[in-house]
Order: sequence, then C-alpha cells, then structure tokens
Amino acid sequence: MIILLTGGTGYIGSHTAIAAIAAGHQVVLYDNLSNSHAQVIEKMHTITHQKIPFVQGDVLNTELLYKTLVEYKIDAVIHLAGLKSVKDSSEYPINYYHNNVSGTISLLQAMSRAGVKKLVFSSSATVYGEPQYLPYDENHPTTPINVYGRTKLQIEEVLRDLVDSDSTWRILALRYFNPVGAHASGLIGENPQGIPNNLMPYVAQVAAKELPILHIFGDDYATKDGTGERDYIHVMDLAEGHTAAIDYLINHEGFRCINLGTGSAFSVLDLVKSFEHVLGSKIPYQISPRRHGDLPKYFADASLAHELLNWKAHRSLLDMCHTTWIFKKNSKKGS
Ligand code: NAD
Ligand code: UDP
Repeated sequence: MIILLTGGTGYIGSHTAIAAIAAGHQVVLYDNLSNSHAQVIEKMHTITHQKIPFVQGDVLNTELLYKTLVEYKIDAVIHLAGLKSVKDSSEYPINYYHNNVSGTISLLQAMSRAGVKKLVFSSSATVYGEPQYLPYDENHPTTPINVYGRTKLQIEEVLRDLVDSDSTWRILALRYFNPVGAHASGLIGENPQGIPNNLMPYVAQVAAKELPILHIFGDDYATKDGTGERDYIHVMDLAEGHTAAIDYLINHEGFRCINLGTGSAFSVLDLVKSFEHVLGSKIPYQISPRRHGDLPKYFADASLAHELLNWKAHRSLLDMCHTTWIFKKNSKKGS
C-alpha cells in the first residue's frame, strides 16, 4: 500500500515510516516541521536505503492534502500530526483544539474528496483520565483530565460519527501509552526542544551531563516504590503496531479504539536503574514535590491489540534505555 503519514518527520512518525517500509509499504511524509526537522528524512534514507517523498505542509491546508493524496495515489493515512504537550494545551487551548481537532477535520475532508477511506489515528491513553480500575481496557470510561486529552477524545468522537454515517470508512484510533526509545541504528529518536517534560529524554540529558540532576516528582504515591508508574513502550514496537493496524484495515470495516501498550507498569526508579545499567554509572537524582496533574499509576490492558491485530510489544525496558542512549550519544556527536 501507499501510506501517507501526517506528522511523518516527528518522533513516532519517523519510526512508523521505517516500520511500514520494512513491512513492504511505500510511504509519503507530510509535516509542517513545527516540531521536527527535515534532516530526519536523510537519516531515514540511510536506514531504509530509499528516497522517501516529503511534502512540507500543514494538515489545516485541506487543498494541499487533497493534492498530495491524489498525486501520490495514497491508499491509507496514518495521522500523527498534532500538538502533544499537556502543559501547553492548558495554556493555549484554542491552538490545541484548532491544530488537533480542526486539523483532523481538514484531513477527513481531503480524504473524503480523494476517496481515501482508510485511517489510523494517533490517540492517547490520556483519554481515560482518573483510573476507575487498572489496567485500562478500551471500555474504561473516558474522562480526560487535561485539554490535550480532550482534543484526542473529541477526535475519536468525530471519527466514530463519520464511520456511523458512512460504513465505507475504516478507521482505527490507537491509544498509545508511553512511547520511549529509538531506532536501533541510533540515527533517529526523540529530540525535544529545550528542557524535556518527559522522563526518558530528561534522564538521557542527565546521563549526557547536559542537565545536572533528575527531579523525581514524588516518592510517596501508593505504588510499589512510591514513584509514579507508567506503561513504557518501545517506539519500534509502537511503530510495528501501526503496520499491524494497516493490515487489519484491509479486511475490516468500522471504527475501533485499541490500546498500544505493553501491559506492564514500571516506576520512575525502575527506569532510572535500567538506564544506570546501560550507562554503567549512576544517574544523579533528588526527590522533588509531586507534579500537578500526575496520575500515580496507569498501564494498558493490551489484549485487544493482540486479539485483533495479532500484535504484541516485545522489546524490554533495557532495550528502551539502550536505544535512547545510543541515539543521545549520536546526536551529541552530530551537534
Ligand atoms: P512529534 O511532535 O514528534 O510529532 C508530531 C509531528 O506533527 C511533528 O513533526 C510536527 O511538526 C507535526 N505537526 C504538528 N502539527 C502539525 C500540523 N498542523 N500540520 C502538519 N504537521 C504538524 O510527536 P510524536 O511524539 O511523534 O507524536 C505523534 C502523535 O502521537 C501526536 O498526535 C501525539 O499527540 C500522539 N501521541 C504521542 C505520545 C507521546 O508520548 N509521544 C503519546 C500518545 C499520543
Ligand atoms: N517524571 C519525573 N521527573 C521528570 C519527568 C517525569 O519524576 O523529570 C515522572 C512523572 O511524575 C511520571 C513519570 O515520570 O510519574 C512519567 O512522566 P512522563 O512525563 O514521561 O509521562 P506522563 O506523565 O505524561 O505519562
């Protein structure tokens, strides 16, 4: 198939493109480069030994999307373009609703006009909100506790309504847990601007001595060691989940939401210890106050993905830390 990846030069998009090519698909990248760099495309060429077409554009530009879908004879779209900072989403809610929700509507209009009706959407575990029970399965109530999560939930509702109105659409919303790690080549990975908000890139910067110390946000939660627990998933496992989703859409109609996680929770201290093992030295840290809005613990029931997509995450926490560190060292050399 020929797959358009919106947000294709971003962290998850670039890895997903590589997984899709490895699975025998052709890909076209579409991105406005608001949170990524065009240089990543060269790295993707090196990894895949293929020239990957790139269109610089905004998903709010319906006309350019339509032209791209037609020109490249696109069969399916993986829609990853979006803004993803929980913190910024509460400061700039209109930007977030416009970019994420209106951006998706623009994409759906372009797809409808071009007759492209297979879509995989990047949703998030943040749609669930305060856990009523764990692990979260796909039937867990959805009451997101931040604007970012509400943009994802609204998009899911738009997608469900669309499929209800026209059964020729085939759409999967993949609810990602905590993607970390990098491609094994160390050529592409997560490269946040400024001081990272998320744990793994922060730890990597402390390991590289770019930041002096890790602040662990709370050690008094009701978790196994008092620190927050999350379902960290290797970005290449996540990427392969998308190709499994595309395969599913070939034979199945309708709309479904599916968790992409490992089904296991690791604490902040587990992750730090794993990274120290890779590094061969200590990561300096201090216990700081809890971060506002943090949930103590959540993780996925990943059984539906296994049942429907025949997909399971198999890479370890050590592999997540190892590939993060290879990428970090490579990027330091290159900078
Ligand atoms: P990312 O910021 O690295 O990638 C998103 C890409 O989309 C960027 O390259 C950015 O330039 C592009 N983009 C943003 N708005 C655009 C627009 N209007 N038009 C065109 N391109 C635009 O983020 P990521 O981590 O790769 O996330 C990809 C998707 O997965 C996002 O939708 C995000 O919300 C979702 N997601 C991410 C995580 C995570 O922890 N990384 C977790 C759950 C869901
Ligand atoms: N965390 C931390 N220090 C940091 C960043 C994160 O202790 O500098 C903790 C955070 O409180 C949470 C876990 O690490 O328990 C994962 O946080 P992240 O922001 O990576 O993911 P999210 O909270 O969005 O799931």
